[in-house]
Amino acid sequence: MTKQWIEFAHNIKQLYGKEFVPLHEPTFNEKEVEYVTDCIETGWVSSVGAYVTRFEEDLAKFVGVKRAVAVVNGTASLHIALKAVGVEAQDEVLMPSLTFIATANAVSYLQAVPHFVDVNEETLGVDPVKLEQYLVQIGEMRGGVLFNKQTNRRIIALVPMHTFGHPCMMDELVAICEKYHIVLVEDAAESLGSYYKGKHTGTFGKVSAMSFNGNKIMTTGGGGAILTDDEELANYMKHLTTTAKVPHKWEFVHDEIGYNYRMPNINAALGCAQLEKLRIFIEQKRSLTNFYDKLVATIDGVRLMKEPVHTSSNYWLQTILLDETYKRDEVLQLLNDEGIMSRPIWTPMHELGMYKGCPRMDLMVTEKLKRKVINIPSTAIEVKL
Ligand SMILES: *Cc1c(COP(=O)(O)O)cnc(C)c1O
Repeated sequence: MTKQWIEFAHNIKQLYGKEFVPLHEPTFNEKEVEYVTDCIETGWVSSVGAYVTRFEEDLAKFVGVKRAVAVVNGTASLHIALKAVGVEAQDEVLMPSLTFIATANAVSYLQAVPHFVDVNEETLGVDPVKLEQYLVQIGEMRGGVLFNKQTNRRIIALVPMHTFGHPCMMDELVAICEKYHIVLVEDAAESLGSYYKGKHTGTFGKVSAMSFNGNKIMTTGGGGAILTDDEELANYMKHLTTTAKVPHKWEFVHDEIGYNYRMPNINAALGCAQLEKLRIFIEQKRSLTNFYDKLVATIDGVRLMKEPVHTSSNYWLQTILLDETYKRDEVLQLLNDEGIMSRPIWTPMHELGMYKGCPRMDLMVTEKLKRKVINIPSTAIEVKL
């Protein structure tokens, strides 16, 4: 078995032409240098400038939404998205326990309560069948509003997350949200360039959040965006992320407690250059999947995560799933020792100290996946098969 893994590691190092292969690195060329240099030479590096508007327009067009509001990071985009749809203190927000910490933290910033639900193995995202059964059990409609019978709190929203770029079962999740009058907010931080039934992820929710952190499929250094088809909501979110300042030539009037969350022009410049190459990154990631598919087939008891039915994934992070005969940490040790940077999936939210006491359903699949999932090097590269 060890011999198969060492051969596997060797092939990855050969593909990347490196003795140590990182999990994910950004890819830049002259375009980034040109646009960022332009910011420096003109002095427009900060929170006002032409690249911010251009980035927002280009991004909205790529995804197929009316508006995108660029912000400082993905966490801020989730925070504002949730606030904008009306999440208030003591509300419960349904979300997978299997997610990056930002999803839960954004809810906490509003003094609301994350309510953890399980995922399925097909998508690594929220399981709609299990969710529906659960809501029948614990939910109660009171005057058109869903309440948790056990806590007496309002359940206001569902935040599905498209894990590693693989879209969730959106038809089913949209139907649940309609039936129970809950707001759908997508955490699309990992799924720029991923489609469900031909429709881009992040277009199903009332509002969606994206991230352009350095390790995402494209980067602005640090950054995020909030997407919506609702013009009024977009204007409000823009206002909130600009310290809620009422536009005026010289006067400082702010009409509520806002946030300094606007994306700086220099980051947006990087984003404009990256966005021009996004199609290529996605193509490269998808051909990397074909490369890994052949490679993974040579190892016993392992499979490569593939895009769910009816979807096209950006394959942001390549994922292998170990069967029960493996000890996850032994594989992680071996790969990392061989120069292949590999990572487990996040510690589920309900296992972290600050979220231990939050309401949750049975999280059997989440706990199982935690023992099985490993991410392997995923930097976009041209693969010659
Ligand atoms: C990256 C990411 C975010 C946002 O992260 P930032 O580092 O704040 O940009 C949110 N949710 C998920 C699932 C992510 O992977």
